[in-house]
Amino acid sequence: MRLAARMDRIGTETAFEAAARARALEATGRSVIHLEIGEPDFDTPANIREAAKRALDQGATHYTATVGIPELRAAIAADATARKGFAVTPDRVVVTPGGKPIMFFAILALIDEGDEVIYPDPGFPIYESMASYVGGKAVPCPVRQENGFRLDPAELASLVTPRTRLVILNSPANPTGGVSTRADLEQIAALARDHDLVVLADEIYGRILYEGEHVSIASLPGMAERTIVLDGFSKTYAMTGWRLGYGIMPKKLAERVELLLTHSVGCTADFSQVAAIAALHGDQDTVRAMCDSFHERRDRIVPLLNSLPGVRCALPQGAFYVFPDVSSYGLSSKQLADYLLDQAGVALLAGSDFGRGGEGYLRISYATAWEQIVEGVERIRQALARL
Ligand code: PLP
Repeated sequence: MRLAARMDRIGTETAFEAAARARALEATGRSVIHLEIGEPDFDTPANIREAAKRALDQGATHYTATVGIPELRAAIAADATARKGFAVTPDRVVVTPGGKPIMFFAILALIDEGDEVIYPDPGFPIYESMASYVGGKAVPCPVRQENGFRLDPAELASLVTPRTRLVILNSPANPTGGVSTRADLEQIAALARDHDLVVLADEIYGRILYEGEHVSIASLPGMAERTIVLDGFSKTYAMTGWRLGYGIMPKKLAERVELLLTHSVGCTADFSQVAAIAALHGDQDTVRAMCDSFHERRDRIVPLLNSLPGVRCALPQGAFYVFPDVSSYGLSSKQLADYLLDQAGVALLAGSDFGRGGEGYLRISYATAWEQIVEGVERIRQALARL
C-alpha cells in the first residue's frame, strides 16, 4: 500500500517501543527492571475512582460537547486561574483525551509549509515529529547540562528568523527535569511579543516541581493571547490511562481546534470528564504526597548515580526523570541502552531518543518503587564495570 509522503516525516515515541522490547524480554523469562516508563507508579486517588464509578452508574456514557462538558471546562478555568496566574475563562479551555492531542492540534492549526517551529533538544520527541509531519521546519534549541537543562533565552533568540511561527516550551521538562525561571520566561515572552511568535507551553509536569513556584508564561504581560498551555491529569493525578488533558488558548483558536476534535476523536470520555471534576474539586493532599515521594526519590537517586564511575548526573528540579551523562563510556546512548537491557536487564531510554542533543545521556524514570531503583542502579554499576 502506498503511503502519503508525509508519513516518512513522522517519528515515534521510543518510550513505548522500549517498554515493548522490555516486555518481550520478560516474556522469555528474564528479569527486567523498568526505568523507562514515564508515568506515576501510584493508583488514581480513590475519590476520583469513586466519582467515575458513580458517573458510569448515572449514565455518563454518552457523547459530550466536543470541547468538554461545561462543568469541567469551568472547573479547569477556575483551577488554572488560581494556579497559573492569569484569567482563564471556560471558553478558552479545550478538553482532550490526554494532553498529547493539544500538541497535535495546535501544530496542525498553526503551522504552514515551511513555517519554523523551535523546540527544546533534548525534548519530548513528538514536538519535532509533529512539526515535520505537517510540513514545518523543526528547529532544535539546545538545552545544556551546564545550564541545569534550562532553555537559554539568548540561544533561543539566536534561532528566530522571519519564518519562525511557534516556540515550544516544556517546564518542568521531559526528559531532563529542567525548569525555566521566571526571568527566563520573561525574556522569552519579550522575544515572542517582539517577533509575533506563538508559544506552546507544555506544563504537564507543572505540579511536579521541587523548588519554587511554577510560572506559566501565559501569565506574563500580553502572553495569554499568544500562548497555548498544554496540561492534563495524567501525571498530576496518576491518570495516564484515563486519557484526560486540556489546552488553554485564545478563544478564536479554541473554536478552530474544536473542528479538529470534531473530525478526529469527537470528544473525551464522558465519565472520565466527570472524574476530572472530582480530581480538581477534591482534596489535593494526594497530589502533594505523590510529589513528596518523587522528591525523596530524586534526592536519593542522584547521589546514587553520581557514585557510578564515569557518570555525571545533574539534580533535576521537576518531573520524575534523571538524565545522567554517560558519554565517558565512549558508546552511543543507544548502544549503551541496548547493552543495559540485554546484558543487565535494565530498561531505560537512550538520551538520543529525545533529539541529537541527548546523545551521551540516558533517561531514567524514577517513578517506580525505590527497591527497583536500587536494584536497577546496582545492575547498571556492575554492567558498566564490565565495559
Ligand atoms: N508532554 C510531555 C512532556 C509528556 O512527557 C507527556 C507524556 O509523557 C505528555 C505531554 C502527554 O501526556 P498525556 O497525553 O498522557 O496527557
